[in-house]
Amino acid sequence: MTAFDFDLFVIGGGSGGVRAARIAASLGARVALAERGRLGGTCVNVGCVPKKLYVHGAEVAHTLRDAAGLGWSVDGARHDWSSLHRRVADEVTRLNGVYERIVSGAGAQILRGEARIVAPHRVAFRDGTAEREITATHVVVATGAKPRRPSFPGAALAWVSDDVFALEVLPRSVIVVGAGYIGLEFAAIFAALGVEVTVLARHDHVLPRFDAGISDFVIEQLRAQGIRVETHEEVTRIERASDRLRVHTVRGHHHEAERVLLAVGRDPATEGLGLEGLGVVLRHGAIRVDAHYATNVPGLYAVGDVIGHNQLTPVALAEGMALARTLFGSGPETVDYRAIPTAVFTTPSVATVGLTEHEARERGHALAIYETSFRPMKATISGSTLRTFMKLVVDRDTDRVLGVHVAGEDAGEIVQGFAVALVCEAKKRDLDRTLGIHPTAAEELVTMRSATRVDA
Ligand code: FAD
Ligand code: NDP
Repeated sequence: MTAFDFDLFVIGGGSGGVRAARIAASLGARVALAERGRLGGTCVNVGCVPKKLYVHGAEVAHTLRDAAGLGWSVDGARHDWSSLHRRVADEVTRLNGVYERIVSGAGAQILRGEARIVAPHRVAFRDGTAEREITATHVVVATGAKPRRPSFPGAALAWVSDDVFALEVLPRSVIVVGAGYIGLEFAAIFAALGVEVTVLARHDHVLPRFDAGISDFVIEQLRAQGIRVETHEEVTRIERASDRLRVHTVRGHHHEAERVLLAVGRDPATEGLGLEGLGVVLRHGAIRVDAHYATNVPGLYAVGDVIGHNQLTPVALAEGMALARTLFGSGPETVDYRAIPTAVFTTPSVATVGLTEHEARERGHALAIYETSFRPMKATISGSTLRTFMKLVVDRDTDRVLGVHVAGEDAGEIVQGFAVALVCEAKKRDLDRTLGIHPTAAEELVTMRSATRVDA
């Protein structure tokens, strides 16, 4: 019989923590999970779920705009943000309850409060004002990440993504600083709902880590919807200008709007956990772990955004599961990071799996590139100006498909299937012998016969 109170103590009830706790408990471990906020973490409360519901709400604006071309009269349609906001909040509350039932149903104990590690195998748990020590054979840090607030003057005047989820009235205009996932998703939501949107990107691209072809295409498509995308605009300060905010940039330009949203990345949430005292090694602010999520301190592990690999829910889930199985299952497990599919829920949406053209070249592949850009069938009569872009990155010598990149309606739904093909190491000739589903946009990915470019 172990002398510890629990076999596993999980700090953080988000995607990674909940998954680790649930799987460990279902494997017979005695598990406690500490959560200081709402169960479900970022994804459920201020991330994927409410964001995607807002995307659904906003996308109706595009459907309404296309409706006349498809024979509908929809004059007088109005959007009520406060109603959408309320319904989304209710759904999030429902999911908090679902998560609670999932964790306790698996047999893990939920502790409502803040946890801090005081020594190997020992956690201080604070519930309101009372603090007590709890011991565990294994402790997992799954505390996620938090929005980065840059240090330039006036940064405190701006919103970060968490603030948008509390918003009851839409502003008339917004400047979005940062052109990554969060910046562009909110830019698209706001713009569809009639907010005047300016996106400031500090370099010449948007969506870092995505293929350059996707970035160019997305910039063009966002502009076609009336979103101002300003590149090479690095912010130096923000100041109040009567009832507006004024954003100054390195090039001496300034931009004004009612509100500013900072979306310049998320930092691993490592503060206040007692990590320094324990000598836990960090790398670029993230907890450093080995292939099985162990830190340099015995009995201490970390998963999810706090280890900073890929800040995505399915990655955190997979890491939580791999760790629980490693500790309480039949042996060491790890996550295969080679082909992580991911989507950006802008309009048009973007999805990708595998290597970008640039990454493939950096790894020494000689390439055959297949690219197409077309007007989707619906747009031919709806009058929509939105287009679709698709790109395959193929190893010229082995014929292996290294990357699939799509920007267009339902990109995420399309690329999820192609992710299976990449995990199975599909060759371009496998795509060629696959029949299309007609008429769809996705069939283009299996009917691109001639390479746009082939390395000599
Ligand atoms: P989190 O989900 O952040 O959970 C960490 C938990 O730890 C929190 O609940 C926190 O309260 C708790 N905690 C922290 N410190 C303590 C402590 N000391 N004691 C007790 N509890 C503590 N990913 C996708 O895959 N798809 C998307 O569409 C998507 N959209 C996103 C949209 C936005 C706006 C944002 C911000 C993120 C989005 N993400 C998306 C990313 C995704 O939400 C994260 O990758 C995921 O939630 C990470 O899970 P996690 O378990 O590592 O951390
Ligand atoms: P991203 O890393 O996606 O994008 C950050 C953006 O901010 C980039 O355009 C970057 O520009 C810019 N930037 C960085 N530092 C500065 C700075 N100091 N000044 C001005 N611009 C700056 O981060 P996000 O905050 O958008 O999202 C965080 C993470 O959350 C994502 O990486 C993703 O993992 C996750 N997420 C996932 C979603 C999904 O799956 N759909 C949705 C939302 C979030 P540059 O290119 O020049 O570096």
